[in-house]
Amino acid sequence: PHDLELIGVGKTYDNGAPAVIDFNLNVEKGEFIAFLGPSGCGKSTTLRMIAGFEDITIGDIFIKGKRINDLPPERRPTSMIFQSYALFPHMSVRRNVGYGLDVKGMAKRERDAKVERILDTLGLTDIADQRPDRLSGGQRQRIALARGLVVEPDILLLDEPLGALDANLRKAIQAELKLLQINLGITFIFVTHAQSEALTMSDRIVVMSNGRIEQISTPRDLYTRP
Ligand code: ADP
Ligand code: ADP
Repeated sequence: PHDLELIGVGKTYDNGAPAVIDFNLNVEKGEFIAFLGPSGCGKSTTLRMIAGFEDITIGDIFIKGKRINDLPPERRPTSMIFQSYALFPHMSVRRNVGYGLDVKGMAKRERDAKVERILDTLGLTDIADQRPDRLSGGQRQRIALARGLVVEPDILLLDEPLGALDANLRKAIQAELKLLQINLGITFIFVTHAQSEALTMSDRIVVMSNGRIEQISTPRDLYTRP
């Protein structure tokens, strides 16, 4: 089966016009997919439906062949990284990263081993005892990534994760993200309104407009076809 499959997925919020219309997509394991389009075109809503933070109005979502429409977020093999990071300011970096494993009720030893490994992978070991509110944007972004990855998701969902960073840092984290995705071999779905980000990082770009998919192509095709 496909790693991720969306079939005829649509979302209409109670108060509004359809936000996502007839969204169809197959994603293979290890692909880096970008959802690209202007603000309000439905990228975030689609991501939140995959994560389980938003009910689906119509259609089906499958992960590895299993229909997940009715599973709550914590029972889906996904992790979501938010632009705002949503870290706990009063907890150490280590505790922030371990939080998802605590919620799952994982035994301490196993938790600690996993936490230390991911802290090391993301270069956070030296600041593991600090609190995130004292750290830089780039460090906070890495903490959020570590927290998403420590639960070993099949699919990592990133909602404009570079939006709060300055241009230089954005470039650095872009490169890191790409490396991480290649090394881990897991599927990344990345939401952005910046064409350059989609072009640099993704294997395929899903171009959205007014709630619909306008085009799905490789960065190369997007570039050569006006
Ligand atoms: P994007 O991520 O591309 O900026 P969104 O998915 O956030 O787009 O929004 C798509 C549409 O759905 C917009 O018209 C937006 O106003 C609307 N929308 C998003 N979230 C909500 C919500 N919680 N309640 C009602 N409407 C929403
Ligand atoms: P206490 O029982 O004193 O509150 P814990 O048993 O929660 O402390 O933590 C013991 C050790 O594990 C400490 O070094 C702490 O920094 C670390 N630790 C605590 N929470 C987590 C977590 N969620 N993930 C990883 N390490 C943690």
